[in-house]
Amino acid sequence: MLRHLSADENKRVQALDELQIFNSTQDEILDKITSLTCQLLDMPTSLITLISSNKQTIKAKQHFHLDETEREDAFCKYTIQAKEVVVCHDTATDSRFSQNPLAAGTTHIRFYAGAPLVTTEGYAIGGLCVLDTKPREFSAEQQNQLRDMAAVLMSLIESRNAIGFVDAVTHLPNRQRLIEDLSQMVDINQGYALILIDSIDITYAYEMGRSLGMPTVEKVLREVGTFLRVTFHDLEKIYCVATGRFALLVKTERKEHVLNDLARCAGQIQDSLSSHLPIKLEMYIGYSEFSAPGRDPQRLLREAMSALHDAISLNVRVRSYSEDSDRTRKLAFTLLSDLGDCLHHGVDLYLVYQPKLNVKTGDVVGVEALIRWKHPDLGEISPAEFIPLAENTTLITPLTEWVIVQTLRQIKIWRAAGILIPVSVNVSASNFAEFEFVERLQKHLNDHGLTSTDIELECLETQKILGSPDALACLHNLKRQGFTLALDDFGSGYSNLSYLKKIPAEVIKLDQSLIRDLTEQKDSQVIVEQVIAMLHKLDFLVIAEGVEDRETLHFLERYGCDEVQGYYFSRPLMPEVLVSWLVGREESAV
Ligand code: C2E
Ligand code: CA
Ligand code: CA
Repeated sequence: MLRHLSADENKRVQALDELQIFNSTQDEILDKITSLTCQLLDMPTSLITLISSNKQTIKAKQHFHLDETEREDAFCKYTIQAKEVVVCHDTATDSRFSQNPLAAGTTHIRFYAGAPLVTTEGYAIGGLCVLDTKPREFSAEQQNQLRDMAAVLMSLIESRNAIGFVDAVTHLPNRQRLIEDLSQMVDINQGYALILIDSIDITYAYEMGRSLGMPTVEKVLREVGTFLRVTFHDLEKIYCVATGRFALLVKTERKEHVLNDLARCAGQIQDSLSSHLPIKLEMYIGYSEFSAPGRDPQRLLREAMSALHDAISLNVRVRSYSEDSDRTRKLAFTLLSDLGDCLHHGVDLYLVYQPKLNVKTGDVVGVEALIRWKHPDLGEISPAEFIPLAENTTLITPLTEWVIVQTLRQIKIWRAAGILIPVSVNVSASNFAEFEFVERLQKHLNDHGLTSTDIELECLETQKILGSPDALACLHNLKRQGFTLALDDFGSGYSNLSYLKKIPAEVIKLDQSLIRDLTEQKDSQVIVEQVIAMLHKLDFLVIAEGVEDRETLHFLERYGCDEVQGYYFSRPLMPEVLVSWLVGREESAV
């Protein structure tokens, strides 16, 4: 770890700092070692000392009252200089110690023998010593015993340290080590880049672990670590900062070179593996640049992480840190955390309802519940902004649950008032994959005295549903239990239609993007007409959303669209307003 450093005092103190033994609190074992040393050498006092640039810290002791002294007064300073056992039979007659306050003062130390604590890299960081208040002899055998004790103690300190600073799987220095190294950088004139590398999709890795066992996945990760170590050997420092995630600390002038090397070896990693498992390795890279002395190391790591997430979400190989996207990410995080609070406390969120009409009869055939969020500081926030964020987190579970329960309460109120139309709620792909989604839904319905015909489910994120066997199974289950399923946003994005056979929906909701240009674009007209005809042939009921004017309605009517929804009829309304709207329609129809 410190092989490249020369053995001067600064490096020695750095080695001491890196061992992190000043701040560790588990000193019981060290105390036991001093106790053992006293017994072994038949001495009243034994100390473990650490010598920093100006102080001696007494890390563990038997029968000694001080916790630290000036470095100048430390007997062990001679021991670390000599890097050998130092013995003083009588301080009173030894010119090195005779004026020392510990010898001459109240402590009355007359005898000292110390063995240096030497790191594997050769730095003496302190001593294991024995003291007495009377002059003594100290045999060669006792000197050997003290030396051995010090060696055992040192290897204990180093192995304890290694446990905290080495990744258990790859045996590379870990994230704590990186943070330490970043905070130790002192060269003001040198620029650096902290490069983070994601080698495996972590969700996928854990899935692999479930089916093949974690040792298999860990073996692969170890091999990736070895590959990177071999590729970059000594010039860069390499770390493993999380499962499958590596970091390189490189000087600015080496950055481009390293990035090129990484890009080049992206394809080679897979081939370098000894196992030929179907493990999908990837290589996303994010980096942040800084000049030493580093700013807050945690912040540097976070910035590199932000860049890495940008690379992953944009599906590009390399991304450097961008303050803008970091800001967006932070805002997203704030929104999510606030949303979590709102859901927890049941405040600032509410539902509005937008009617759906039968094209032929003009009857209101249902309403769609749409969530609204009035943020205390940021004002109204569109669901188009916060739903996709929630969909990427576990928050979508309580959110949908909240929407369902609020909707059921509202339906109950409406039923009591004689309003019998079904209400649809939007459900995201991951909701369908949740444990016992159907059971919980049924329970909520029972609790409100309602049934599966009172509520319809609009399925969002079709493509994600198709990728999830759990979600698909859930949809089949819902269908068996009598729920009406509508596929939302049909015609936006995903174009492979064969999935229509896989999803047990009865209703298809044409996306606004198809409807928007209907009156102006001949192409859109042809597409919508053909799509509706095809969906009818497949026995789907077709609803068009985003109908904003009479002309659009006429086109849809001509194409045989079954139902419509949009601002032309009504915007999403507060429940009381919706009731007045319904009453108003009935009155005008009479
Ligand atoms: P969506 O499910 O496709 O909902 C239709 C969106 O179009 C709604 O936007 C609605 O207010 C808007 N809209 C309705 N008629 C018109 C129109 O004539 N013209 C135009 N330009 N827009 C119209 P909103 O409420 O902002 O919701 C946006 C999206 O957020 C929804 O798209 C849905 O994906 C999601 N969302 C809304 N509420 C919920 C919810 O409770 N749960 C979940 N999971 N997602 C929701
Ligand atoms: Ca919808
Ligand atoms: Ca839509």
